[in-house]
Amino acid sequence: MNAPVTLKRLGPDAEKFVGKQKKLYIDGKWVTAASGETFAVIDPATGLIFDHVPAGDKVDIDRAVAAARRAFDDGPWARMTPADRGKLVWRLGDLVEKHADEIAQIEALDNGKPVNDARFGDVAFSYELLRYMAGWSTKITGQTIALSSAAPFHAYTLREPVGVCGQIVPWNFSFMMAVWKIAPALAAGCTIILKPAEQTPLTALRLAELVEEVGFPAGVFNVVTGFGETAGAALAAHPDVDKIAFTGSTEVGRKILAAAQGNLKKVSLELGGKSPMIVFPDADLEKAIPAVASGIFYNMGQTCSAGTRLYVHRNVSDAVLDGVARLAEKMPVGPGLDPISQIGPLVSDEQFQKVRGYIEAGVSEGAELFAGGRRVGDVGYFLQPTILANTRNHMSVVREEIFGPVLCAASFDDDGIDAVVREANDSIYGLAAGVFTRDLSTAHKVAKRLKAGTIGINTHHVVDPALPFGGFKQSGWGREQGYEAIQLYTEVKSIGVAL
Ligand code: NAD
Repeated sequence: MNAPVTLKRLGPDAEKFVGKQKKLYIDGKWVTAASGETFAVIDPATGLIFDHVPAGDKVDIDRAVAAARRAFDDGPWARMTPADRGKLVWRLGDLVEKHADEIAQIEALDNGKPVNDARFGDVAFSYELLRYMAGWSTKITGQTIALSSAAPFHAYTLREPVGVCGQIVPWNFSFMMAVWKIAPALAAGCTIILKPAEQTPLTALRLAELVEEVGFPAGVFNVVTGFGETAGAALAAHPDVDKIAFTGSTEVGRKILAAAQGNLKKVSLELGGKSPMIVFPDADLEKAIPAVASGIFYNMGQTCSAGTRLYVHRNVSDAVLDGVARLAEKMPVGPGLDPISQIGPLVSDEQFQKVRGYIEAGVSEGAELFAGGRRVGDVGYFLQPTILANTRNHMSVVREEIFGPVLCAASFDDDGIDAVVREANDSIYGLAAGVFTRDLSTAHKVAKRLKAGTIGINTHHVVDPALPFGGFKQSGWGREQGYEAIQLYTEVKSIGVAL
């Protein structure tokens, strides 16, 4: 079961799923969009349409919210014991693992990512997270409180599910982002309306099939495929939704906040990033160079926490840039479904054009095109892994989120940590950072001073189901994973009993 995927095309199960007519999953039933409209799903490796999904809009969101409301207020879900709820979430993890190869293939086709990254990154993380969160179902407790006054109460708190949750996710890790959202919400006892990104809607629908197979009560989990401006906006604004959880761009995050104002629903936001990686001159370069390369190029740089800004000490700058460029050259570029590909296409033509525009802007602002920068082939949205050297913090490529395989590298001279920490913190974002040094004291001092939600020491990407993940500054509000995620989906109620 854990062998690498070796097929160059969809396996029979994934092919069967892709060949099926797609419907929305509302109130435990498969239904067409009320409007009857659909939209096309495009293979980013070819630019060709290979499927259609319903274009859900406000009417469908209304139906899904009503179903989720009923399930939360009156359904068997509301009366289910935490242990039984946990068993369902655990079983969903088992089913995701059972169908892991198939889900990875669908994701590789829909998003373009390398199929083994999908299998052993996105999908493996998802089933482990479901099991981790299943365990929390039975451990959500309040406290007895020793009162500070002479009030004659016995006081305690309850921690209760927040209610009906709208969950809006992006295209870069479509399946995994959906599971990041649903796993803690289900474990906490909430009900859900999930809106996947329009670029990659398929794995959310496969997830709904697995939810149905597990036997969650009708209305607990609903999926509405559709566009952000219609389905997404209706969900964020809906007066009967208690909480909206959003992962996506900072720009859309602001719109979500504005839309949520109407009923002051709870909001959590996982937004953009522009994460720095700092390489000090004493770093172990044999380990730092591959970590920097995967820090930026994993998932074609379409990772919110990607290490997009490199600050490398001048003494080791040539060695690091040459080393990263050599690794980048050796990364096979090709369709996600080809198991040898390490760099797939970007997700869409729009994203491809945007990233190319940034490479041109960087060069015209004075950066040096040190490696890559060119399109690969003439079909699909393939781009070489790219390094822009001699970047400066005022350049747009350093300030703005590119969301592509483009490393912006600058060297620093100072032997202390102050100047480089100031440069690294000079961003509106604060999602992640990487620090490379053999000096323990430098590592911990820098980690403490960096303004970011997750710091890697001698590594860059640090994620685990148990480890809170989220952003400082404009990278977001709240933390997913760990017990922090359970807190996002629960409310605290204080109770006093007169003595
Ligand atoms: P996006 O903001 O364009 O879209 C995200 C989702 O929001 C999609 O489902 C989209 O349909 C929906 N949406 C768009 N407009 C909307 C509106 N007006 N109202 C409601 N919903 C709307 O982001 P994207 O391009 O899909 O994803 C890339 C972004 O996601 C990057 O900025 C990346 O950093 C961020 N991201 C952050 C994290 C994190 O954990 N912090 C994780 C992954 C991705």
